[in-house]
Amino acid sequence: MYDLIADQLRSAKKIVFVTGAGISQESGIPTFRGKDGLWRNYDPMKLATIDAFYDNPKLVWEWYNDRRRNIFAAEPNLGHKAIAELEEFVKVVVLTQNIDGLHQKGGSSSVLELHGSIVKIKCTVCDFKDEIFTEFSELPPLCKCGNILRPDVVWFGEGLPQDVWQEAIIHANSCDVMVIVGTSLVVSPANTLPIYAKKNNATLIEINPDETIMTSDMDSSIKSTSTVALPELVSIFKRASKM
Ligand code: NAD
Repeated sequence: MYDLIADQLRSAKKIVFVTGAGISQESGIPTFRGKDGLWRNYDPMKLATIDAFYDNPKLVWEWYNDRRRNIFAAEPNLGHKAIAELEEFVKVVVLTQNIDGLHQKGGSSSVLELHGSIVKIKCTVCDFKDEIFTEFSELPPLCKCGNILRPDVVWFGEGLPQDVWQEAIIHANSCDVMVIVGTSLVVSPANTLPIYAKKNNATLIEINPDETIMTSDMDSSIKSTSTVALPELVSIFKRASKM
């Protein structure tokens, strides 16, 4: 398996990583679909929607406040750091569905946040936007204009920021290798990125302890957690590029 991956990596000039909640799971941030995914018995898939927010903005903000506390205290793990280390040897771009900022904290310099960032907030009515690192004392927090503020993240059913998405497609279209880590690949349109890469004859490598709906479309599938597999992948790359 690892010999095959070494062959696939040897001539790569640009590697794109597509990452999801699984890569941050070992930093103590729960995934949405894992066993630890529930929050106070609520299903995150139902809370991360605009309908849930307008039904009960205080509840959704309580969830985000807890997530913000957890994420601000989290540290990048060996997986995030391995991706950053790879930049010394090859062009690396990270296209992440995560909102936790751990790739940047781990040292990656080229990260596109497809679903926004948990530090960002915006007004539901006017064009006010900001980055807030402290806790909100009143929930839901209000804008100076008097309307409710919301997290500046992409909720289920909402469109991605188009400039970020267009740039992500350009990278997916132009990479030699795409490594897909810790994502169930069920969230659209992020789950179409491997299809763009495949059309450009890129090699697809998946890192995930579980099967996903696209495992059978991968050139290689590493059934392992990201803190084990990513440092190994970087060692393989270093050895292969010296040969
Ligand atoms: P998901 O919850 O649907 O899937 C997580 C995947 O990670 C699963 O396939 C699981 O098998 C795999 N996984 C679990 N532990 C792993 C590990 N240690 N190493 C490697 N893989 C592991 O997550 P998704 O596909 O990212 O989609 C859910 C949505 O939830 C995204 O939009 C994302 O923005 C959001 N989300 C983000 C965070 C975060 O920012 N950290 C956390 C939860 C959810």
